[in-house]
Amino acid sequence: MRSAADERALRAAAAIGRRVGAHKIIDDPDLLAPFGADESGLPAAPPPVAVRAESSDDVVAALAVAEARGVPVTPRGRGTGKSGGAIPIRGGIVLLTERLDGLVELDRAERLAVARPGIVLQRLQEAVEAEGLFYGPDPASLDSCALGGNVAENAGGPRAFKYGVTREWVLGLEAVLMGGTRLRTGRRTRKGVAGYDVTAALVGSEGTLAVFTEVTVRLQARPAATQTLLATFEDPFAAGEAVRDLLGSGLVPCVIEILDRHCVEVMRAAGHNPIPGDPGAALLVELDGRDAGRVEADALEAGEVLERRAARVLVASDAGHRRALWAARRELSTLLAKAHAGKLADDVAVPCGAIPEVLRRFEALGRERGVTVSCYGHAGDGNLHANVLWDDPALDAAARGTLEAMLRVVLEHRGTISGEHGIGLAKRDYLAWEQSAGLLELQRRLKEAFDPRGLLNPGKLLPDRPGSRSRRAAGSGGRRASRRA
Ligand SMILES: Cc1cc2nc3c(=O)[nH]c(=O)nc-3n(C[C@H](O)[C@H](O)[C@H](O)COP(=O)(O)OP(=O)(O)OC[C@H]3O[C@@H](n4cnc5c(N)ncnc54)[C@H](O)[C@@H]3O)c2cc1C
Repeated sequence: MRSAADERALRAAAAIGRRVGAHKIIDDPDLLAPFGADESGLPAAPPPVAVRAESSDDVVAALAVAEARGVPVTPRGRGTGKSGGAIPIRGGIVLLTERLDGLVELDRAERLAVARPGIVLQRLQEAVEAEGLFYGPDPASLDSCALGGNVAENAGGPRAFKYGVTREWVLGLEAVLMGGTRLRTGRRTRKGVAGYDVTAALVGSEGTLAVFTEVTVRLQARPAATQTLLATFEDPFAAGEAVRDLLGSGLVPCVIEILDRHCVEVMRAAGHNPIPGDPGAALLVELDGRDAGRVEADALEAGEVLERRAARVLVASDAGHRRALWAARRELSTLLAKAHAGKLADDVAVPCGAIPEVLRRFEALGRERGVTVSCYGHAGDGNLHANVLWDDPALDAAARGTLEAMLRVVLEHRGTISGEHGIGLAKRDYLAWEQSAGLLELQRRLKEAFDPRGLLNPGKLLPDRPGSRSRRAAGSGGRRASRRA
């Protein structure tokens, strides 16, 4: 039997359907099932109904009707999020944005692009690169995530060390508030300081402040040359030291990715063999630029720096080897999940100098509790994807304990509990470990300014006010162990 809240959501969706077209309303439970989950591994919560927006006007109508009827709305891009942001834990309407697709404008002279939020990132990049231009952010999910989701999560990626994360590329947004007010924020010019930087506040707001219906991004000239180095090490600590050396050298690689022994083994077991030998860890380093000679000279210098600590340094000179390396790297998260019955994936960032010590502490925490901690990630940014892996169901609680102890280690080293995957549902209850009560309260007030009734993506990002009713009703939004059969 449907709850009263579900019935209310269905009635609201029917009213939205009368404004935007009934064919955009999905209420078949079989079709709704995928919209209850994302890639976080958190338990699914299928919604009673979804609205498939095809235009900015559809979003306005959906948010106007939903607010008038007090129905929660959870925006959804392509569902690749890793922190549970798109899971509709409080029911209501899921607002699908994947049909808000396509490139609206590409201006070579002004070096900017305007795109709709549902565009898959890789499509945007291909369109931009065909014009000799370049858009920096490159999350490993680029062939399946949407630009709107990237903006909502302030997504990063391997190239962020040199090119920065999504916020540094977004110039302006068209955004719709709960209630249906449509706003344009930001600018099209390269410079501009008018008013508060509302665009910057919306980037990374995890679907809790507004729904994006158009995104304006800056572009730059495409780097013409790339050199890829692969260095292998006795252990991940030596690799961590090499990252420190590389940063100290003054070189600016576009990519410094780290993989530990377990990652290399799991890749190999899945048939990916781009890393030779039996290394304790590997670094994938790329340098790029417009001048091929300069890039080659920098790569030589980087190779010399790496050789001080590496067992071996290889140049991935042919395109095939480079493609194989990246294919394996991009699949790593999925491969680790397939290789173990249980996986808790963490995404933390620490000061680069602390990487060797943090890796040591992570390994020891896993060993003490009988689980494996395996790390890979964007080492140039200190952004580690640290995975707690286990196969014995009796270790579920130990795995969760390991993850929490790892977060404490990160904070001890002045790191942050989320480097790029966001807080969402997965880390909502840990945000108070990092941020003061005053800062959390300021953010709650910001949320109230955008969404006074708290209906847009409720239960995400910010922990409830201590003692509040929704906290008692909803219980912890914290991370649960993900287990695979
Ligand atoms: C294999 C794999 C590799 C990954 N690698 C990376 C990586 O390298 N770097 C990285 O940063 N992330 C990575 N991710 C995480 C994920 O791909 C990103 O967070 C991505 O930005 C999510 O986009 P999405 O379209 O799938 O969003 P969804 O999962 O659908 O939604 C994510 C959040 O954005 C909100 N949202 C979506 N669209 C809108 C909109 N139009 N308006 C307002 N809010 C919206 C949702 O409410 C939700 O809170 C990876 C994920 C996977 C599965």
